[in-house]
Amino acid sequence: MTVLREKTLRSATALVEAGLAEDGRLAELQRVASRYAVAITPAIADLVNPADPHDPIARQFVPDPRELVHHDEENADPIGDHAFSPVEGVVHRYPDRVLLKLVNACAVYCRFCFRREMVGPGRGALSAKALAAALAYIRATPPIWEVILTGGDPLILSPRRLTAVLAELRAIDHVKILRVHTRMPVAAPERISPALLRALRVPGKASYVVLHVNHPRELSVKVRAACARLIDAGIPMLAQTVLLRGVNDDAATMSALLRALVECRIKPYYLHHGDLAPGTAHFRTSIAEGQALMRTLRGRVSGLCQPAYVLDIPGGFGKSPIGPNYLSDDGAVIEDFNGRRHHYPPQPPVRHPEVLGAKRRASKGDGP
Ligand SMILES: *Cc1c(COP(=O)(O)O)cnc(C)c1O
Ligand code: SF4
Repeated sequence: MTVLREKTLRSATALVEAGLAEDGRLAELQRVASRYAVAITPAIADLVNPADPHDPIARQFVPDPRELVHHDEENADPIGDHAFSPVEGVVHRYPDRVLLKLVNACAVYCRFCFRREMVGPGRGALSAKALAAALAYIRATPPIWEVILTGGDPLILSPRRLTAVLAELRAIDHVKILRVHTRMPVAAPERISPALLRALRVPGKASYVVLHVNHPRELSVKVRAACARLIDAGIPMLAQTVLLRGVNDDAATMSALLRALVECRIKPYYLHHGDLAPGTAHFRTSIAEGQALMRTLRGRVSGLCQPAYVLDIPGGFGKSPIGPNYLSDDGAVIEDFNGRRHHYPPQPPVRHPEVLGAKRRASKGDGP
């Protein structure tokens, strides 16, 4: 059956009417929808197979009563954005790059979203005043080399609004890299329009787009074409994926996703361990399961396909790689991708690279 879908589904009733949830679930879906935003675009609704009770697309977007079960270790601000926000809309955790959160709305709402307590439709864009203050902060902070537009989904803004913000960033000399984190090419591929491509190409700066994508079926023909438009316009693409139980936590699905991305010229960048966002326990795997998955991928799919498996440390301490370790603590034994162990010769004593840098500066006479 082909249903021509035109509108984004935004309520439990709309989901039931569209056949994405059974009638009997209406009340429980309404309870979840009144707590956490719901949106399923036509492009996403078309990917769902309603006959499959474990459909990996539905699982990501159709509300689930388990979202209302909150655990002690979960946190409304799981990666500590608030603690590192010098001005509204900016998160400055690492010296050389900031997040600029222009908008808190998205085209679709992922049930596992790490910013689920902050995103939603009525949560509009930064006010003109707040945006001016955020840009002033970036302008006044020369170590900021890269600005990461995130949210929410920054590509929900019109090309005109994006062009205005990017023109301000273009005028800041020390900002060299503009990175956009988005789910839009998957959620609404038709929005990757010529006007948007013109907005994203900023003369004198390097623009990158990082696509949030979790399952190979999300890369439909239209989505692949939308990504090709971006890349052909000179915008390199990377991908970030959240490790999700029941969606992509098996080697076959994950390798199919990573290979499909590389076939689309998109470099897998991060595989995120599930954040401790409220009501998302049913999506989280253990770190040991994630590491076992990464071990399976190593050597079996091309190095181009390998993302870094990372954990955003609760409290705002940043991302750390948590992939499997192949080298013994003393550096004397190294494991290969088949699990065989090999001896490695003794190493000279460790010298920290920063210490080396300080010595070099000092010997040039320009040290402190
Ligand atoms: C994730 C994140 C970044 C980007 O980190 P990369 O490792 O450069 O991708 C930057 N700032 C904040 C606050 C982040 O959470
Ligand atoms: S697109 Fe990103 S910010 Fe928006 S709901 Fe999904 S995970 Fe959250």
